Formats: sequence, C-alpha cells, structure tokens
Amino acid sequence: MKFNTRAIHAGQKPEETTGAVMPPIFQTSTYAQEAPNIHQGYDYARVGNPTRTALEKLIAGLEEAAECACFASGVAAIDAILKTLKPGDHVVSTNDLYGGTYRLFTTVFEPYGIGFSFVDMTKPDLVEQAIKPNTKLIWIETPTNPLLRIIDIRTVAEMTAKRNILSAVDNTFASPYLQQPLVLGADIVMHSTTKYLGGHSDIIGGAVASSNEEFMDKIRFQVKTTGAVPGPMDCYLTLRGIKTLHVRMERSVENAKEIANFLNQHQLVEHVHYPGLQNHPQFELAARQMKDSGAMMSFSLKDNTTERAMKVMSSTNVFTLAESLGGVESLISHPASMTHGSIPKEVREKAGLSDSLIRLSVGIEDVEDLINDLEMALTT
Ligand SMILES: *Cc1c(COP(=O)(O)O)cnc(C)c1O
Repeated sequence: MKFNTRAIHAGQKPEETTGAVMPPIFQTSTYAQEAPNIHQGYDYARVGNPTRTALEKLIAGLEEAAECACFASGVAAIDAILKTLKPGDHVVSTNDLYGGTYRLFTTVFEPYGIGFSFVDMTKPDLVEQAIKPNTKLIWIETPTNPLLRIIDIRTVAEMTAKRNILSAVDNTFASPYLQQPLVLGADIVMHSTTKYLGGHSDIIGGAVASSNEEFMDKIRFQVKTTGAVPGPMDCYLTLRGIKTLHVRMERSVENAKEIANFLNQHQLVEHVHYPGLQNHPQFELAARQMKDSGAMMSFSLKDNTTERAMKVMSSTNVFTLAESLGGVESLISHPASMTHGSIPKEVREKAGLSDSLIRLSVGIEDVEDLINDLEMALTT
C-alpha cells in the first residue's frame, strides 16, 4: 500500500465487538483474566492497551517498521532508547541537537557513565573519526533543529552496519511523510508525536519504531519496567491526527516553500535556512533523502540582535509565538532563548545559532495571510 493509504489503514481494523471504525478509548487500568495469565492479550495497562496498540501499529506501518512502542513524550522515548545502553558505552551525536535531547544526554546519562561526542554530522568523516571501540549508538537528527542541516542517513547507516553499532534517527522534523529512515538503512526511528504526527498541538507523546527484534524486546521491557506510557485518550487523539498527516504535510510544505522564497528576497533578512532553497548547503542531499523540503525553516536578520528578533516575534498576529512545531497553526519562536535555552551560549554560537535567529513552523493557514503577517512584523 502507498503512504497515503497506510496513513489511514496501516494495522487498523474495525473493533471486534461493535464494528466501530475507530478504536474505542479503552479507559481501563486492568483486564479480567479467565485463569491466572489466561487472558485476551492484555493483562495490565502499563504493559499494553488496545488504543495504544492501534496507534503503534499505525506508526509502524508509516515507518515500515516491524514494531513500534509509544511513550508519554518524545523525551521519554529517547530516554527508553538510551536506557538500552550500559555505563561505559559511548554515543556519537550531532552538534545542533534538539535542546531537550542535549540536556537529557549531558545531565542525566553522562553522570550515569555514558559518554557522548557531539560532532558536525553533515560531514560523514567527522562521524567516522568520533567512533570509539565502545561506541554503541549513533544518534541522528535530520533536518537538524533549528538550522535545518541535513545529515546523510544512508551514509551513516552504512558506517554503523559494519561495526555492530545501532543508528537511531529522530524523525520528528521530517515526519514519516517526508522521510523514512529505516528504508534508508537506519536501525531505529524515534518521534515526538507531539509534533507532526499528532498535528493539532493537543497532546504530548513519543514513539520508537524498529525492525530489530532484539532492540524492540529491550524497548518493550522499558515500557513495562519504567512505565512512561501514554494514556488512551492521548493515543486516540494521535491516531486521529495521523489520519490526515499526508494532507496536512502537503499544504504545510506548499506554504513553507512560498514563505522561504519571500524571506530569501527580503531586504531585512540576512539568511534563510531551508532545505528547499538552492542556496542550502545540502540542497541535493535533501532532495534525494526527503520526499519534499518540509515546513520548518529558520532565518537570521541583518540587524543581528536579540532585541530585533524579539520585536519581530512579538509583532505577528497569525503566527503564534510559542515553542513546539508541526501543528496546523503556524508558530514562530526564538531558539536561542526558548527551545535551545538549555544549551550554553558558547556551544550554541559555535554551532551557528545566532541571537537573531527566528524559527518558523509553517501551518496550513492561507499563505497570503502568513506572508502579510511576516511582512508586517519585519517592518514594524
Ligand atoms: C519536541 C521534540 C522532542 C521532544 O519531544 P517531547 O514530545 O516534547 O518530549 C525531541 N526531538 C525533537 C526534534 C523535537 O522537536
């Protein structure tokens, strides 16, 4: 089945007792057993819930994974992946990582004895050089946040495959509509379902999908043992959101392309970071690796000050000043003080994240209204 059909039907079937087309919200903590351990597949809701199962099957279908496990948040999903490692293990990751992931790696897992190297992963040579004998995981985020750099998933996956290292991709920014890391050779794909998959800014959730059975056994063990599971209502909303993923993505990307062109020609704008622009350093890789160029972008101002960026961001009416991304509504944010506030200033600037950098998550409103809103805010 093609992607647009899978987004609606993958792993879904009408509910058995009533024929309900959408799975009910199974709001229960436990399940009756006929005799000890004789039951219909569910015993206790931390371990499993049919609404959650429906969501997991749908996401697995979109990522072409054998299995998926859902979590209460994106960071809980990352946390579970990292807990499959042991003290003394080493992880290579990108140097312009999502702030929350960077914080989790350096403040929670580093003190527990897991080592990290953060490198510019747009250069595969640097990834190769950072690999140590104890490297067990390569953590990829592409496009990166907020500079929209593109990491070559296939090249990194080939590097890890011959060394018994797992490669994991945070696919939140692209969504499976634009990019399917497992098809490109990665071992693990992770999502903050809070973003494009949910798509309506009304839930917090995460997911891990893989066809590596040994790894997924460890993840299932984490689900059961550490219990950062999503509630059935949130699973239902995410499931509902995913059914329009392809339609929302199509419109968001169409809008984003027009906005990127508008900003790229604007006299007050210094630089636009968007993989769909010819001047993007990995324009060709993006075109090869992704179905389209996405709906996230960032731009810096000629007047490269926090004050000027703040003025622009507080002047928009259609774009809402808020963290997060991937919803139907367009959002505007300031990475240096918001999403990346937990990254030290030196580290941030070294990675090219300037004070005036503004990030956009382009939604599905009328593009003319979005452009007029930005024009007004830039010239206020
Ligand atoms: C939001 C986000 C996360 C964290 O997900 P939560 O659902 O907020 O816990 C991880 N990675 C990326 C790229 C994100 O945008």
